[in-house]
Amino acid sequence: MNRFILKNGSVISEGKTLPVNKSDILIEDGKILDMGMFDNLEIPSFDVSNCFVLPGLIDMHTHLDDWAGDFYTADTYISGSKIAVLNGITTLGTFITESENSLRDFVKDTTKSTLVNCYDRTIKKSFNNSYSDYFWHLTPLIFDDNGKINRKKVDEVNQMMEIGIKTLKLYTTYKKAGICSSYEQIKMFFNLFNNRNISFLIHCEDDETILSSVLKNPDFKNTFTHTLLRPAKAEVTAVKKIVELALENHCKIHIVHISTVEGAEYIYKNKNKIPVTVETCPQYLFLDENYLKGKNGFRYFCTPPLRDVQTIMELKNRAVNGLFDVYASDHCPFLKKDKKIYANDIRLIPSGLPGIGVLGNLILKLFQNDYMKAFSEISLKLSKNPASICGIYPQKGTLKKGSDADVSVFEITNKNYKLVSSLSDVYEPYEEFNGNLILKYVFLRGKKIVENNSLSDPHNFSGKCLSYNELL
Ligand SMILES: [Zn+2]
Repeated sequence: MNRFILKNGSVISEGKTLPVNKSDILIEDGKILDMGMFDNLEIPSFDVSNCFVLPGLIDMHTHLDDWAGDFYTADTYISGSKIAVLNGITTLGTFITESENSLRDFVKDTTKSTLVNCYDRTIKKSFNNSYSDYFWHLTPLIFDDNGKINRKKVDEVNQMMEIGIKTLKLYTTYKKAGICSSYEQIKMFFNLFNNRNISFLIHCEDDETILSSVLKNPDFKNTFTHTLLRPAKAEVTAVKKIVELALENHCKIHIVHISTVEGAEYIYKNKNKIPVTVETCPQYLFLDENYLKGKNGFRYFCTPPLRDVQTIMELKNRAVNGLFDVYASDHCPFLKKDKKIYANDIRLIPSGLPGIGVLGNLILKLFQNDYMKAFSEISLKLSKNPASICGIYPQKGTLKKGSDADVSVFEITNKNYKLVSSLSDVYEPYEEFNGNLILKYVFLRGKKIVENNSLSDPHNFSGKCLSYNELL
């Protein structure tokens, strides 16, 4: 039996501080056993006084170890989970996207479908290669070439759900990549899988609006053109349509990476009608479209594009007042050399920014120096809410009796240090930003994996897959 105590911390979970100012957490065999004051127990303890003690954070939106068009993401499960745990993130949500393109580095089993091959490939890439726990969102292609439902594929998706997939991700754009679903198809998705009590994650950018906003003579060399080609209106139109469909079909939906005030507010207004949640990412709160101007614009190329200064300011204000349910990074990093190749052609620049490493620090910044409010919000929007949406609550996302003992112990310092989004050779989008958070300890299922901002055991990948029940 492995028992220990975290002593005298400011414990914050699910948006609430424990009634007493200082509390102990009793951990046994990887689970939270109890909370309170345990002065008389003769067992090992860690002093966490002057620290904020939170459930391990969850970044539910990250792209790791996969092809994105012609480029490979700069972070693997190993490097992505390393920067995660060093910043208090103990669980990552990543993606399995069905595509032939994803299999180019994989020996395919031709007796199996592309979907099963993609699934097998992700197992191979991730198992025993992660410092953090992780789970998968699935993007299957369930329609055949004639647009009819492929029943065999539907059966495969159902089997994956039996084993542990709890979220499906759908896109209203990206026709070229072959992952765009029409609204009609999304409706069919809703009908086919809704009875399984899952969440649908939706990327909302209306493809029609994007196509109709094609400029007369677009300057593809200028990165700023990206914002003109993918206007705010595209996001808002898709949000309205998807909310309407979810309303008709009584679905639980989560709208990812919202970048507009109107989109976020529309979702917020409909919360009393359907279980809809909304996420935004640091780039839409801290980076404005001016970063896209000039010769380094390609470094900030992501989709949806960065928005104007006014929008950023409004989103920040609304965020502080509780507009968003989830903060996630949409970590999609590319090596400098890959971003650079097509720096002069926005049709070809790999789209995406790193962000896992800065997520906690930047969200903390939103609340200025009100640390109690900041950590209370973080415990909700970077832990409890993503866990609930992704079907892993209360195993994750909380400090409750019986939950996994994933605990992040934060200390505020008066020193400022440079923020680091990724440990790979990427352009740092937040190089002008500083942070003052120190990770005193991080525990994953009761095991100390980080101490004073360093890995405790760099050779040990303790992370487990939560989307694969047979291994639990
Ligand atoms: Zn994404």
